[in-house]
Amino acid sequence: MSRFQPLERLRNVGVIAHVDAGKTTLSERLLYLGGRIHRIGTVDAGETTLDHLPQERQKGITITAAATSMPWTPRSGRNVGQEHRIDLIDTPGHIDFGIEVERSLRVLDGAVVVLDGSRGVEPQSETVWRQADRYGVPRLVFVNKLDKVGADLGASVQSIIERLGARPVVVSLPIGEGAGLAGVIDVVAEEALRFDLGDRGRQPRVEAVPESMQAAVAAAREKLIAAAAEVDDEVLEAWVSQGAAAVSADALDRALRVGTLEGRFVPVLAGSAHAHQGVSPLLDAIVRWLPSPLDRPEITGSDPETGAALTRASDPSGPLTALAFKVAHDPWIGSLTWLRLYSGTLEKGRQVLDVARGKTVRIGRILRLHAARGEEIEAAQAGEIVAVQGLKEVRTGDTIAEPSAPIVLERLVVPPPVAEATVEARVAADVDRLAIAVGRLLAEDPSLSAGTDPETGLVVLRGRGELHLEIAADRLRTEHGVEARLGRPSVAYRQTFARLVRVTERLKAQNGGPGMFAVVELEVGPAPRGSGISFVDATRGGAVPKPLVSAVEKGVRSALESGAGGEWPVVDVEVRLLDGEVHKRDSTAPAFERAAAQAVKRAAEEAGLVRLEPLMELEISVPETSLGDVLGDLSSRRGEVKKTELARAAARVEAKAPLAELFGYTSDLRGMTRGRGAASMRFFGYAAAPAV
Ligand code: GDP
Repeated sequence: MSRFQPLERLRNVGVIAHVDAGKTTLSERLLYLGGRIHRIGTVDAGETTLDHLPQERQKGITITAAATSMPWTPRSGRNVGQEHRIDLIDTPGHIDFGIEVERSLRVLDGAVVVLDGSRGVEPQSETVWRQADRYGVPRLVFVNKLDKVGADLGASVQSIIERLGARPVVVSLPIGEGAGLAGVIDVVAEEALRFDLGDRGRQPRVEAVPESMQAAVAAAREKLIAAAAEVDDEVLEAWVSQGAAAVSADALDRALRVGTLEGRFVPVLAGSAHAHQGVSPLLDAIVRWLPSPLDRPEITGSDPETGAALTRASDPSGPLTALAFKVAHDPWIGSLTWLRLYSGTLEKGRQVLDVARGKTVRIGRILRLHAARGEEIEAAQAGEIVAVQGLKEVRTGDTIAEPSAPIVLERLVVPPPVAEATVEARVAADVDRLAIAVGRLLAEDPSLSAGTDPETGLVVLRGRGELHLEIAADRLRTEHGVEARLGRPSVAYRQTFARLVRVTERLKAQNGGPGMFAVVELEVGPAPRGSGISFVDATRGGAVPKPLVSAVEKGVRSALESGAGGEWPVVDVEVRLLDGEVHKRDSTAPAFERAAAQAVKRAAEEAGLVRLEPLMELEISVPETSLGDVLGDLSSRRGEVKKTELARAAARVEAKAPLAELFGYTSDLRGMTRGRGAASMRFFGYAAAPAV
């Protein structure tokens, strides 16, 4: 027998959901059924296994993705009785941690979307759904909390159609409602599954569909068959010629897999994590209908030297290709790098290429993790997710490759840092440790950056918002043992050019030794919002040789990034190199780089710079009675309301507002709504800031 589990029996899945939909509770139930934990903690008591960072427990939100392996042998479907492995990748439920969602979506093969059955699709579920669409991730939906009064499977299914524009296919129905929830009907097999609290829903008792539910089950099965018939000829054939009763459960099972993998429809399962109802059928569904690594398209990347496109198939004997999707520092295990292996096999002690640094490094231990505990393994193969030791300099988003077959995988899309605050060690003895700890945070989180405050010399942390910075400062203390004081967060502004200008810069220095000679003519002007910096070589007839053009570009970019003489980095500009003059001997790359930087500064002076401020997109939910106050407050914050919606006594507001007006917003909102309002925000774009 091979030392590995066959790839077709592996499922890398993540659970994604709106905050409070029950993701943590559900994940824990899954791990319990998979035998990975032996005691059920409760979210409300702040003691679940997946949320292993202390401040996540305090805030009740999951920030860091961790992956946990568990065995599962389904009791239903084609794969009945075969042991599979499910790697559960924990994803955050808070939109402020979008980058975490993004990076987990990159590495998982399939996802379970949890909805709160009393609320249906919520704003963040929509956001995450679109992200999953972008990565082409096949999904299942688990409609949770069906033990709650007012929960409604039908309404939740309707919201999937209306809000997500997806095609739901109901594969299980709740038996009973509210506190009377007593099991689920498996619509594919047409049987009633009842879960006993004694074994926490491990083994269902299988019974016939109760009389009272037969009509509902037949209707659900009819819809299921209609969807299945579109992807499976056998189902179509049996249905058309002999009717629904002739369609076998096996044929439906097969069609559900095909339809799910192709994204034609989304199986919807009913249950309640809290009440232990319908959780083991969800594990079966993961095995039955979500993809194995073999079902996923080849990963694409490029040659680090030539930039030529490259692909890698999920093949354990191919060249090693892995993405470092998370770097973590664990107080017990030390520094760990989470890798998703796309191709090849990774053995302990093996030399690999850290592509970003062009260095060969040795892999230390390989671990498969269960929250904070590790199980050491000798080797891992394509398709697997493991944590390794030894990759000291590797940062989140970097590629690890076979030294003889370098490749760079596409990097994560990182939102710009829009808020900043100083951090200062509380005791002088911690100053050096602070620098080391900040370095570790940056390696872990690509959306965090750091600099130095020119006036005070203090470390400045930059991130995606107030909460992000607060959590970073908390982590300095809890994970790295450095007591740090976070200053007041402020806005990280940007600047852009007020108008188009043309400048010529002549650099000529001849003082005995090798001289410096460069002439560059640049045109610099504003470009559309969000376009960043674009550089165009518009010279004719080789007026400036290619290597010197690269030097000009380098000088231009670094001058713009450091503010072009102004206070903030310059973005949204187009720079055109129109012409230049070269001296045979004295025209070096450093000379052109310097001339270009000076030209940019002069252009900025001539054109004038406009300050840009970050705008945030807000999703707010408040009790209907507070809506007036919340809208009034938003307008005093220069907010622009895009949409308000009333649903079951709760109002949902979508708005945009400048970050400068939003510090402390979450707690102000709680004040306005007696603790019942919630908001999440994310970067939208930059807009011209009012003059100060
Ligand atoms: P997360 O924010 O998505 O991780 O959600 P949690 O798992 O923390 O759950 C949020 C709240 O919903 C907690 O108070 C849970 O006890 C509760 N909850 C979770 N699942 C269920 C369920 O199936 N039924 C009911 N009634 N409550 C649930």
